Order: sequence, then structure tokens, then C-alpha cells
Amino acid sequence: MSVNQQAHTGPPYGQPQPGYQGYQQPAYGGPSLPGVPQSQYGAYNGPMPGYQQPVPPQGYFPSLGFPSKGSPVSLNSDTSSLAPNFIGSLRAPPTSGAPPPASGASHPSGHLAYSQFEHGDVQNGIPASAAPMQRPPASQPFLPGSAPTPVSQISTFQQYGPPPASVQQLRNHMAGMTIGSTAASAPPPAGLGYVSGSFSATGSGLHTPYSASQGAPPATVSEGLPLTQPPFPGHTVSTQRLPTQVPGFTPPPPSTGVGPSSYPPTTAAPRPPAMPGPPLPGQTVAGPPSSQPNHVSSPPPSTMAGLHPGPPMSGLHGPPPPTHPPQPGYPMQQNGSFGQMRGPQPNYGGAYPGAPNYGSPPGPPPPPKRLDPDSIPSPQLNELPPQQKPRHRIDPDAIPSPIQVIEDDRNNRGSEPFVTGVRGQVPPLVTTNFLVKDQGNASPRYIRCTSYNIPCTSDMAKQSQVPLAAVIKPLATLPPEETLPYLVDHGESGPVRCNRCKAYMCPFMQFIEGGRRFQCCFCSCVTEVPPHYFQHLDHTGKRVDFYDRPELSLGSYEFLATVDYCKNNKFPSPPAFIFMIDVSYNAVKSGLVRLICEELKSLLDYLPREGNMEESAIRVGFVTYNKVLHFYNVKSSLAQPQMMVVSDVADMFVPLLDGFLVNVNESRTVIASLLDQIPEMFADTRETETVFAPVIQAGLEALKAAECAGKLFIFHTSLPIAEAPGKLKNRDDRKLINTDKEKTLFQPQTSFYNNLAKDCVAQGCCVDLFLFPNQYLDVATLGVVPYQTGGSIYKYAYFQLETDQYRFLNDLRRDVQKEVGFDAVMRVRTSTGIRATDFFGAFYMSNTTDVEMAGLDCDKTITVEFKHDDKLSEDSGALLQCALLYTSCAGQRRLRIHNLSLNCCTQLADLYRNCETDTLINYLAKYAYRGVLSSPVKTVRDSLINQCAQILACYRKNCASPSSAGQLILPECMKLLPVYLNCVLKSDVLQPGPEVTTDDRAYIRQLVTSMDVAETNVFFYPRLLPLTKADVDSDSLPAAIRNSEERLSKGDIYLLENGLNVFVWVGVSVQQSLIQNLFGVSSFSQISNALSTLPVLENPFSKKVRSIVDMLQGQRSRYMKLIIVKQEDKLEMLFKHFLVEDKSLSGGASYVDFLCHMHKEIRQLLS
Ligand SMILES: [Zn+2]
Repeated sequence: MSVNQQAHTGPPYGQPQPGYQGYQQPAYGGPSLPGVPQSQYGAYNGPMPGYQQPVPPQGYFPSLGFPSKGSPVSLNSDTSSLAPNFIGSLRAPPTSGAPPPASGASHPSGHLAYSQFEHGDVQNGIPASAAPMQRPPASQPFLPGSAPTPVSQISTFQQYGPPPASVQQLRNHMAGMTIGSTAASAPPPAGLGYVSGSFSATGSGLHTPYSASQGAPPATVSEGLPLTQPPFPGHTVSTQRLPTQVPGFTPPPPSTGVGPSSYPPTTAAPRPPAMPGPPLPGQTVAGPPSSQPNHVSSPPPSTMAGLHPGPPMSGLHGPPPPTHPPQPGYPMQQNGSFGQMRGPQPNYGGAYPGAPNYGSPPGPPPPPKRLDPDSIPSPQLNELPPQQKPRHRIDPDAIPSPIQVIEDDRNNRGSEPFVTGVRGQVPPLVTTNFLVKDQGNASPRYIRCTSYNIPCTSDMAKQSQVPLAAVIKPLATLPPEETLPYLVDHGESGPVRCNRCKAYMCPFMQFIEGGRRFQCCFCSCVTEVPPHYFQHLDHTGKRVDFYDRPELSLGSYEFLATVDYCKNNKFPSPPAFIFMIDVSYNAVKSGLVRLICEELKSLLDYLPREGNMEESAIRVGFVTYNKVLHFYNVKSSLAQPQMMVVSDVADMFVPLLDGFLVNVNESRTVIASLLDQIPEMFADTRETETVFAPVIQAGLEALKAAECAGKLFIFHTSLPIAEAPGKLKNRDDRKLINTDKEKTLFQPQTSFYNNLAKDCVAQGCCVDLFLFPNQYLDVATLGVVPYQTGGSIYKYAYFQLETDQYRFLNDLRRDVQKEVGFDAVMRVRTSTGIRATDFFGAFYMSNTTDVEMAGLDCDKTITVEFKHDDKLSEDSGALLQCALLYTSCAGQRRLRIHNLSLNCCTQLADLYRNCETDTLINYLAKYAYRGVLSSPVKTVRDSLINQCAQILACYRKNCASPSSAGQLILPECMKLLPVYLNCVLKSDVLQPGPEVTTDDRAYIRQLVTSMDVAETNVFFYPRLLPLTKADVDSDSLPAAIRNSEERLSKGDIYLLENGLNVFVWVGVSVQQSLIQNLFGVSSFSQISNALSTLPVLENPFSKKVRSIVDMLQGQRSRYMKLIIVKQEDKLEMLFKHFLVEDKSLSGGASYVDFLCHMHKEIRQLLS
């Protein structure tokens, strides 16, 4: 079914709502410290006060007898140890003490029902007057406060003094480097100029442009920055963010000509030895001298060799940049003015002082702009002994720093709310802690785009190679300070929609003819306003109830769906959860079975429920299995649970209907008894084989029989080799790595699971898989159903009760409690000119437009790529509307709508100025991770490099000032593209080290595909914090440092987190007192790296570190594994893998090397 239509193929169920009061877990939503993002994953605390009377869950249809194949077995028959019913005392909710109050309705941020329509007789929710909509009074001015404060600008530029006093001084600098920074060498005050501007150029028709008056840079900008030709003659000069220039790596420019653009800073550091230039094609990148600890010279051929330059940029036409006469004074900035959207030029300024000239052999300099990289000697030099290599060492401090960019954005944009009233605004970075005020566009927590300014034509888009994509997280958790989407009820006729394209009523629809009709902002079709929805317009043409209706004034809201939006035209029943536990030998022996059963006894009291409901509407069922399946009847009227064994796994069926899915409260005693008995029943099992597909089939059949959607929680330990459908064989073969057959390692070994997934999606059966492997179990195949049903996979390799249970239980608790929409269908509509063409994420698609998910939880994202199918206009911009139809945890059918308006541009510079690199990387990683399914990994890596080189070359050619080809010039918004791209290229999926298993790679591949931008950001570039620098008296985090070994001091302790793991690295020379305080042992050698948690010690340092760890855990959607690493210990290898700016053991290039390589690629494209 589609959001578009009325007939759905999902299951039917009854009513109610999400809103969930899970028990508080310390791990989620720990204290958040200032200066760091709020936990995105805090408990979903949204009651829905105004929600309509909940309809009680529909009755469950008892079946009439057991199918004959089932063989009822009395649980008491084969074991004497069965404790008769009654769980003892329920365990207290883990660590956090008491469960939350039964009513979550006191929380202000719940779903507020909206009840503003005149004709509806249903008053659902509080009256509008009482609804605390966070809405400004009259118009939506762009709050001045949200304009970035340019303060940091000053210091940036000030570090670059006036031009060198003498020619000799200049030459000295040039000999060492070509400091890239035309921009950065501009005098300081100028930087202040570019705070605004962009808004005025493309101001939205709907909203007040930010301020045209601020558009022009202050006059001082022009100092040293002569106005120059626009990239396209005839076009107006538009505002532009400063590009970032990275030290040039090529021969020094002639002493005249481009000279001025390469003024080095006056504070020239001593020159390191010369460095060879970029390598020849097909050769490895020349690294810094191998004597440098972190810069081993060339990466192995597998990384860089054979990186073919892309096709010549034949599309890059437009006149070549004009040849300027040598400019005295400061280099010019093409395009002159400095508008900006996101923030001022980050602190560390475009120029990287002290950066040496990378590879500038003496000799006659080639003409600028036409350098032939092939002519640059160097790669061969790699084979020379280090002492013979005349090479320069690039100062890592001189290349763009992620830490600095993150820090600058936090300082500039973290203090004011992000107000969404203006079209095409680039939001703060995901690493910045900011609040969002919805004034007509969806919050960046729901949608982030690779660019907020889209090229008007497909030619421009192709020329730039910048992918146009949106990363959408429809059910994202919001911080408590923000308002959840309001629930709107348009009554029996359902949501008001465009007649033609079926877009939902939104702030961009234009009411005409006195309010009797509206014109669709997506397809321009005019639709009659239904009588009950009519309202008069004010003198500006706006409906007088504009601010009373979320769908007219907000970017995100929900509609109550009518029966037309339900499968089979029946309201759905509440969903069900089925717990399916592997009870084979390994699972029992490791203590896993007992652990799960113990946990479920308390966890079942915290199933998701609608905000105002006393108890969860979700019913539960239980299955255990090895090579046969055991179903349990836990009907409340039974004194003891009953077991039904199904050994015919070839034709799975559910042997009981009545009593399988039950209400937890009603069957509490029987369930408790069952959970006590399961570990005992299988305590002596010798069965080592398992089945897998029949387990999913059983869950699916049970949901079908109950006519509801739901989720299967499967706890599984081994490769399913028992005779059954979906049986697998061990086909792991590491020899395939780096061959054309490597892709098969990521593909399922049978199509059986794809078909099963399709059936599951049709029923709304979502599968969450918890894996506990001791060896290969083929995640690529077992993951197919979870992946395609919108479920999650968790993997605990070599599960040890002692060290892993805490992590597993935290994951399980969160997984069971989190907000989920069932039987979901998402469609993204766009205004004329672009359309959604490709989708990435955990879902199933049966047509080209509808993304179907049996379940969609609050952590999952869907990435959508757009392509042009017509021209766009700067005036009207581009609109996206994401509509998600889903069933809430109480069975209510709803539509969640997110709208976003973007700018469109005719100047490439505007595109580059409004890009978001974190989102771009999120998209590129997903694109590449899908690519490995069909192409050799090396091809995937090469095409990524090529695409990024084209992106940067296009910028250089069309937007940057003409300058020496030896300079690497990066757009300000993309200056981290090389470092982040390198992290993606050397990730385990694309370049595995020897310790990475095939299952690890398949697991990571699937995980990343559903990640949001914040998650991919920290996953690819981990956060590294010096713990010993933490201020124990403040709430703040120590300042992060760059991920390189040379940043580590052996006298300090560091924390590194990437969303899956959190490492604590201890230097060999750390003070004994610190070791005592943190680990409770007296010396370095006594620290155990078997710790899975830090010891709880009563001293400020221990408390501080534990609070930091807890806070980080709270920000992540999975509980991270704690790993203690001692310097020079064998585990350090694992840790070093995450120092992503360094060369990796698996052959990944260092950041410096990679930057050089990208530079070479760009130059080849330009030549
Ligand atoms: Zn339309």
C-alpha cells in the first residue's frame, strides 16, 4: 500500500498510542553536560494528553483447538524441578530504581492533540488556546540570534600577519610551502563581513528574508580582496563562503603571477625536509618520511594504486577563469563577497600556516593552472632510503581539523535555537547541542540534507557531482525541551490532501478564492477546500486560523488516519511482541537462556504504551527452539504454562492460537512460571544444532493468526545447519577478500530469506535479531529479514555472561521499550522539478516510490536521493514532504508528516556554500556500502574517491579564485570531506584488517545503512577525549582531540568512542595516583583489561570519568562496549585502528597522505 492510497496490505488492528514510559535506564539519558549534544536517545517521554479516547484493544480470537501436528506436552511431565508458578519478587528495574510513574501524562512534551476544526464533533485534546505550541506571534522572522556570531573570525585572520616584507621572505616561504590561503591571508577584520547575505539572495517567498541589508559584506572585506569576475560571465556576483585552502603540494608558482596568492604567514616555522610531490597515476601516494611515527610512507598499492583519475571533466565548461594580472597585495577571492549561511569562517582560518610545499622540486615551474601531475617526480622516491628523500613534512596542524570545525560550530551556533522559518537554512552540525523551534520546516532531527540549496538544472547538478539527498528519521526522539508533533484530526473524511498528487495539507499550500480552494505547492493542482475545513483569509491571503493549525504553520505534525488508511479497511489491532529464545547447548551453557528469562520477568512491565494508558496494549508470546520449536500456552486461566512441540519444521505452523499471545498483566503468573521453568527444562540439553527460518515463519504465522502486526525478538547463537528450510552452510572464505568475488561475502547465500522477508513485511512482522556467535554464523544471510523488515541486529561475539551481560541487557531494554511504528509505509513527495529516485535503509520496496517497513523505530533513518526531472526555479525553491503511515504501539493508525523547503540556485557557489559534509558522508557511506553487494570493493573505493575529486574540482574550477594549481582549495563547507571520506574508505567494510571477520563486515554494513548523521559522524571519526584533562569540578567534557597517535601523551588517559565501542587508553607513564583513583589498583601493570565497566570508586576522578562514560552511553542508540587498553599492550592494535588520521594497519592512508592524493586527483581533473 502506499501512503498515497487507501488500501493497505498491512495487517489490521485496533487502536491506541505510543508514548512510552520505559523504565529509566542510567545508560540512556544520563546527565548531559553542557557543551555536548543532548542525548538523542533519551527515553521517549511523550505522553499524549489530548489524545482521543483510547479504544480498548480488540479481543483476541481464540482458536478452536490445536492443529493435529502439535503435540501438547505438560511442562511438568519431564521435570520435577518446576517451581509452581509465581515469580518471586519482580526484579527492580535495572539500576535505576523505581519505574516511572504510571502516568506519563504530566510531561509537557507529549503529543498534543489538536482540536481546531469547527465542524468536527470529536474534540480530541486540549483546546488550541491551551496547547502550548511553540510558535512566535505574528510572523516568522529569522531570529537574529540564530545568525552565527562571527566573533571567532577575528582571531582566525589575525594570526596571519601582513604580507611578507620582502621578496626574499616570500621566497623563503614559498620554498617551504605554498600556503593556500588566499582567503586566510586576508586581513582580519574583513572576516566579520560575511555573516549574512545568502538569505537575501534567495529569500523565500513565504518568509521574511533574513535581511537584505546584511547581504553586502562590510567594506573592509574588499581590502586585499579585489572584486573579481564571476565564474560565469554575465552572471551576477553572488555571495560566497570562503573556501578553505590547504597548503599547496606542488611546485612553487612563478615568483610573479600567482605569487601573491601564496603568501605564507610571517611566522614561518622551521621548514621540515622537502617532501616529494604527488605520485604518478597508479602509484602510491607519497607519505611523509617514514621516520615520522604516524606517517608511514606510502600506503600499499591496494589503497591507492590504480586510483584512476575520473574522466576528464568535460562537463566543466564555462569559460576558464579569467587570467588575472598579478595582483599586488592579498590574493583575491573570486566571487568577492562573503555571504554565508552556516557560520562564520571557522577559527582556524582557511590557511594552514606552516604547511610546507608538498612536492616542489626545484626547476622551472610549470605554468599555473595547467600543471601536469604526471610530470611531478616523486613516487619513485618512495623506494629510496628515507635519508635520500627530499620531502616536506606536512604539518598535521595545518590541514583542516574536524575538532576545530566541530568546536567552532558549537561556539557559533550552540547558543541560540535553530528556528526553521526560513527556507534553505543549513542547520548547525550534528555535534552541536542546539534546540529547534519549528516554524514551518521539519527539524533537522527529522531531516538533514546534503545541500540546502539545489542547483536549478540537472546539468549543474551533474557538473558538481554533489549528490542531492535527504537523511530522514521520521520517528526521531526529541529532547524534552522540544515539542513532539501535534496530532491533528480532520474527522471522518481524513486528512485534507491535494486531489492530484495526494500531498497532505502543509504550510506551503496556497489558499485562493477567498479560501474556498487551495493550490498545491507540489503539483500546482487546485483543490476544493472541504466545507468542514473552510476558513476565511486575512488581508495577506493567509487563513485566519493559520496559527491554530499545525498543518498550516509547522513543519512536522501528525494526522489521525481514518479506516481508509488501514489494511482491509479495518482498524488494526494492537501489535504483539514474540520472544523467541535459542535453547541449544551453547545458549544454555553460556547462561544466556537464564539471563534472558530473568530479564523478561521485569522487562515485560515496560512494554511501550501510549502516554495516557495504564498498561501497554501489546500482547506477548513465547517460543523456544533448537532444531525443533516449542510454543507455550500462557493463558491466564492456566495454572501452569503448557508447551507444544513442533518438530516438523519444514511446514511451520502455530500449534495453538488461544493462549499464545496474551496480555502481560492478565497472564502474569503463568508467564512468570514459564520464565522460571525454561532455563531448568533445557539445563541438560545436548542439542547443538539450530534452525532459523522456521523460527521467523512461526512468528509470522502467529501474527497472521492474530491478525496483527508485531515484532519478533530472536535470540540466536549459531549457524542454522539443522535440516530445515533456510538451512545454511559455512561459506566464509577470507581468500575472497580483494577479489571480484568478495561481494558474495555480503550477499545472502540463499534467496529463501528474501522471500520470507517479503511475507513478513506484508504482515507487518518486524524482526529484531540478537546474535551471540562463537564462530561464523553468516550475518549476511541471517540479517536479511531483520534488515528488510526495518528491524535491528545486535551482535555479541564470544558472549561471556560476566563481561557482556550488562551491555546486552541495556540493548535489550532499550530495544523493547523504544518507540516503534508498525506496518509502516513512507512516501516522499517533491515539488515539480526533482523527484526521489533512490532509497537507502532497512526496508522493503515493492514499487519505486513506497518504502515499506514492518516496523520503524525511533533510531532508524531512511536516506533518499533526488534527481532532477525538470528545471527548478530560484523563486519557488524546492519542497519535500515525507509522509509516514504507521500503526502506533497501541494500534492507532497515524500519518506523520515532515515538510522541508530548500533553496534553488543558478550559481554553483551557492550550492557549495550550503552543503553539509556530515550528511554527504552519511549518504556516500551508504551508497558505497550498498555498492559492495554488486561491485568489487576496490571499484567502490575508487568511485568514491573519483566522485569526491570531481566535487572538489568543480568547486575549484567554477567557484574558487584562480590561483596556483599547487594549491588545494576546498569549499568551506566541505573542508572536512577529504578526512571523512578517508575514514569511510578505510572502514572495515571497504578495507578490512586481518582481525575483522566476514560477519563483522556484514554486520557493520547493515548497521551503517540505517544510521543517522550523528551516528555516522562519530562512527567514522571517533571522539577522542583526554580524560586526565577533565575538570572534575565542572560538568563539561574535556576538549576533544584529533584521532592520531601523535596527539596522545603517555602520561595521560584517553577515552575514544565510536558509537559501538568506548575505549579507555592508559599511557605507560600515567601517575600512579590517577591509576589508583580510576582502577583501584596500585600500578599500571595491575590494570586488568578484562574490565567491562569501570570500578565504582569514591573519588572525584573516578566519578567524573564514569559520568562521562554514562553520558556518552546515553547519547548512543546502542550500549557501547567498554574496552580498557594499556599502552604497548596487545589490545592497543585494536585501539589504533580507530586513530583514523593515521595510516592503518590494513593499508588505509593517513589523513595527510590522503589529502595529497585527493589533491592530485583534483589536479588531474582540472588539467
Ligand atoms: Zn498536488
